[in-house]
Amino acid sequence: MSGIVAGKIALVTGAGSGIGRAACLVLAREGANIIAADQCGLAAQETHRYGVGGKKHICLSVDVSMSESVNMAMSDIIDNYTVPPSIIVNSAGITRDNFLLKMDERMFQKVLDVNLKGTFLVVQAAAKAMIEAKITRGSIVNVASIVGRTGNIGQCNYSASKAGVEAFTKTVAKEFGPFDIRCNAVVPGFIKSPMTDAVPEKVIQKILPHVAMGRMGRPQEVAEVIAFLSSERSSYVNGACVEVTGG
Ligand code: NAP
Repeated sequence: MSGIVAGKIALVTGAGSGIGRAACLVLAREGANIIAADQCGLAAQETHRYGVGGKKHICLSVDVSMSESVNMAMSDIIDNYTVPPSIIVNSAGITRDNFLLKMDERMFQKVLDVNLKGTFLVVQAAAKAMIEAKITRGSIVNVASIVGRTGNIGQCNYSASKAGVEAFTKTVAKEFGPFDIRCNAVVPGFIKSPMTDAVPEKVIQKILPHVAMGRMGRPQEVAEVIAFLSSERSSYVNGACVEVTGG
């Protein structure tokens, strides 16, 4: 099997939809063995049906916001492959939008729990397993968001979680660089996916004039950057947060 990540094992969270699903497809095209993980096991299976089916690919249910679920998933993966994955893509994420004055405390917490704590839990479990197994040339790719840099009306929870993902990424890069495990993030702009399908057309028409390329991005356009950061082609890129926004 050829490709820029040939023979590597890649765990992708949020694999049942959007950017996570596209990352599975691109990493599989580039020769990786894919673990498609999503809170909806059926959605992860659906990703297999879309084109990553094969005997070295597996799918599993995981709730990234729960440490028991993440730890169980990691131990199932090691049972299956005997070694932990050396590529981790944290794409699981949610929005629960509302104006700050109307923001429900539980909705604020829920978004932090999935987007930021979930990224932490998966990275902690995976990095521990990688270091124990003496895996080198590991690569972790987190999915942040441009609104973590710009802020966005109605997204005080989401924007804060994604700013946190960038700071977290840079810290992980410093802690695990000495183990030859890199950590980077992609910072997508406005990407067409089930997450943004909920955005009303009139809001989309207000956003697009601010995008230099004048259109929304496609999940695959983010996934191609994720694959590059996952691969040895980016062997000296560590702690970087790469915008994929169309300008
Ligand atoms: P998506 O289509 O909604 O995909 C996200 C996936 O994550 C869904 O399958 C979702 O399941 C899953 N998920 C949610 N909570 C989970 C949990 N606790 N444990 C495991 N999986 C969980 O959204 P997307 O657009 O592909 O977004 C992927 C990532 O990119 C997210 O982190 C998002 O914040 C980020 N991002 C997206 C955009 C954009 O414009 N689309 C821009 C910047 C950043 P359910 O469908 O069941 O909730």
